[in-house]
Amino acid sequence: MAQEWFSGVVGVLVAILLAGCGTIRSNERPVVVKRAQMHMGTLVSITAVAPDSEIAQTSIEAGFREIKRLEQLLSTWIATSELSQVNAAAGRRPVGVGPETLELVLRSLEMAGLTEGGFNIAIGPAVEAWSVTERQHIPDQGELQVLKPLVDWSTIQIDRQARTIFLPNPGMRIDVGGIGKGYAADRAIDVMKRAGAQGGVVALSGDIKTFGDLPGMDGFPVGIRHPRLEGALAATIDLKNEAISTAGDYERYFEQDGIRYHHILDPQSLQPARKCQSVTVIATEGTMADGLDTGIFVLGPERGMALVERLPDVEAVIIDDQGRMTVSSGLRTRLRYP
Ligand code: ADP
Ligand code: MG
Repeated sequence: MAQEWFSGVVGVLVAILLAGCGTIRSNERPVVVKRAQMHMGTLVSITAVAPDSEIAQTSIEAGFREIKRLEQLLSTWIATSELSQVNAAAGRRPVGVGPETLELVLRSLEMAGLTEGGFNIAIGPAVEAWSVTERQHIPDQGELQVLKPLVDWSTIQIDRQARTIFLPNPGMRIDVGGIGKGYAADRAIDVMKRAGAQGGVVALSGDIKTFGDLPGMDGFPVGIRHPRLEGALAATIDLKNEAISTAGDYERYFEQDGIRYHHILDPQSLQPARKCQSVTVIATEGTMADGLDTGIFVLGPERGMALVERLPDVEAVIIDDQGRMTVSSGLRTRLRYP
């Protein structure tokens, strides 16, 4: 069971990666290097802990290169990406994809199953009808009803052997905006390890994966953003070989007549999901943390927390529509409050 900690707060995450180094074991003294670049439409920062600065730089470059490579495969803003090709062939034919695209789409469908359809990679046409950041358009019921058959993720056809994806209805499309950054963080951490880093953090805005420790510390400290107080934290936590992701209603939204319209849609109503202000998920994998944060945001605090308590190695902080914070059982002794 989850426990309420305080009210009046909503939170999303922001990483506060303390760059300071302490003294380290015996005679080796790891270096800590941090760099940031724009990828996947967001600020990506990579921190490496390594025996020397050359290894740190090499592993950071490998991490950025991997994220860039995945963006070329998965971004629906890039017309030649594998997912754009799948989308362009909707209603016509299956399209062959590489192992990463297949894996991410399969994991997305798994997250859809876990969250009772709250997480839905077919939601794209409805996201576009709202265009929360560009047009601030409130679509009417008729407009949304027409889109219903296009957002049915259960019709997506995958042939694992042939490695193809087929969207049966023209106008359907796959959008991995709610899970792709977590997946990219996982893959970037893998290549950093192979490049010799002994610890690190990959943060694609609020989707963060860590491994190892900051010198002199146990893991990496990360902040969970307050969903209504700009610049404030709802809590902090030390992550060790874990990922953290936050879905919040305050990142992209507009207000009209006192109502907040934001970018996470409830696939049932095709309206902005109303039960939470923010959902933060901690899991071993970034893919899982990112997919679940969006799906649980739709499910709401009760069903969402029940799911978290059922899943091994998954924890969450859910801030509901009233600003009440609920913390999963495995996190209660780990969170620090400001
Ligand atoms: P971000 O870190 O970009 O805020 P989130 O993990 O919160 O990402 O996911 C939000 C994005 O996911 C939206 O911008 C949209 O593209 C997509 N999306 C919106 N609603 C859903 C949903 N119910 N299921 C899956 N993806 C969604
Ligand atoms: Mg997400």
